[in-house]
Amino acid sequence: MARYVFITGGVVSSLGKGLASAALGALLQARGFSVRLRKLDPYLNVDPGTMSPFEHGEVFVTDDGAETDLDLGHYERFTGVPARKTDSVSSGRIYTTVLEKERRGDYLGKTIQVIPHVTNEIKDWIEIGDDEVDFMLCEIGGTVGDIEGLPFFEAIRQFAQERPRGQCIFMHLTLLPYLAASGELKTKPTQHSVKELRSIGLQPDVLVCRSEQPIPDKERAKIALFCNVRPEAVIPAYDLKSIYEAPLAYHRVGLDQAVLDAFQIAPAPRPDLSVWEDVVDRLHNVDGEVNIAIVGKYTALEDAYKSIKEALTHGGMANRVKVNVSWVDAEVFDREDAAPHLEGFHAILVPGGFGERGTEGKIKAAQFARERNVPYLGICLGMQLAVIEAARNKAGIKDAGSEEFDHEAGQKRFTPVVYHLKEWVQGNYTVTRSADDDKGGTMRLGAYDATLKEGSKVAEIYGATAIEERHRHRYEVDTKYRDKLEKCGLTFSGMSPDGRLPEIVEWKGHPWFIGVQFHPELKSKPFAPHPLFADFVRAAVVSSRLV
Ligand code: GLN
Repeated sequence: MARYVFITGGVVSSLGKGLASAALGALLQARGFSVRLRKLDPYLNVDPGTMSPFEHGEVFVTDDGAETDLDLGHYERFTGVPARKTDSVSSGRIYTTVLEKERRGDYLGKTIQVIPHVTNEIKDWIEIGDDEVDFMLCEIGGTVGDIEGLPFFEAIRQFAQERPRGQCIFMHLTLLPYLAASGELKTKPTQHSVKELRSIGLQPDVLVCRSEQPIPDKERAKIALFCNVRPEAVIPAYDLKSIYEAPLAYHRVGLDQAVLDAFQIAPAPRPDLSVWEDVVDRLHNVDGEVNIAIVGKYTALEDAYKSIKEALTHGGMANRVKVNVSWVDAEVFDREDAAPHLEGFHAILVPGGFGERGTEGKIKAAQFARERNVPYLGICLGMQLAVIEAARNKAGIKDAGSEEFDHEAGQKRFTPVVYHLKEWVQGNYTVTRSADDDKGGTMRLGAYDATLKEGSKVAEIYGATAIEERHRHRYEVDTKYRDKLEKCGLTFSGMSPDGRLPEIVEWKGHPWFIGVQFHPELKSKPFAPHPLFADFVRAAVVSSRLV
């Protein structure tokens, strides 16, 4: 049976609950325990797949094809444990399940209520895979007091009550605001937040207090007294230069010790933190820097490309260089010369995306990289657009485009070099889709195998010819144009095992130009940088020396 840590937040949102949860997971692993992290989100969307990246940041995709909250990305980056469909659940999903059961008659005509029907569904979800790990860390999204969150708080209260004593603990994150005028850290919002929690039956065992200023012992004691928490379980959390400092920083202030004490695990196994010491060393002891442009559409909100940004940082760590990322809005040069916007960068990355807006600019970025020998990594849409660029400017298909843009515009303007995929193989099954399917959960999602061509650049980079990567797309490069494009030098160096779907393209004779239909960024870790990102940054280093 697993032990459970429920992680909640109060006072304000965006306190870094996800990061604290992920860091705690890493610290428990460092002490030899196995962990799984889970996110319970109170919003009513069924999953974040259809939420705008502007509002919600990136959609993180799991191997088993779930579209989840970006916090699951943090969890994976810190623990290396691949997240599953069952590690992310929203109120929308819970209610959908409850209502489906009601329609099927599973409740035998009973009145359906939040307690017990919704709370039971949440509890069932929480304990999936209970016998697989030592610790299950469940983060509740939002802030205590939110109306949508109440069924989740009630469910975790019941859950802890139904388990043997000492099996579940509660960790609560708050903020200690600093009032410059009086030169004081204020504890009152934390007291109120804990009061709110206690009013719904939850007593925190560990309090993590975010603060910009050092928290004096006197204030720590006061918080402990008023919030009914042991003083050593009041954990200060200060701002960090990098998120990857979090495991060591939280260890120094006693977070993992406080958690193990709360479970009365004594003596606590000693931690081996060498992995994180190496990560921090690679982050801070660098030899040079490179400037990389991410040419995208959601550049206003960096969270929309969270995993890419992190994977580039990991690539930098692999090469011991600092990666400076510049966000370049492709729409700006849709109708003008891209060169002035792209000159001087050591490498260009065109990330995934949806819809036509900004794509002409991104196609120009691919052309610029190809013609100027600048390292280029095209991810998903970034690969599709690189193929369209090749078709237009090298293979003579002047009106090459993607069916996606014609569908969106409601008119036929392009030769569909990239077409809407309606049938594909997943394991032993054939998946089919129609043009007017719902938007949610209908893409080619999750891990798929690819076969790499012997002797290609990607085979060399991966050091393998069989790989597995995560996908999230509806459209696909059409193999009809393969011969024509290969004759121009664009090699199809990775294909689905059945040879039907292009997975990777690369330009022959270019120092580093690779387009991938999948999302390698989702599998990169600070302690295990993804080979494509490590090599892309290496190529950027080479190109920086040429400038
Ligand atoms: N819009 C493209 C598709 O659906 C690319 C998706 C992506 O970049 N994730 O195929």
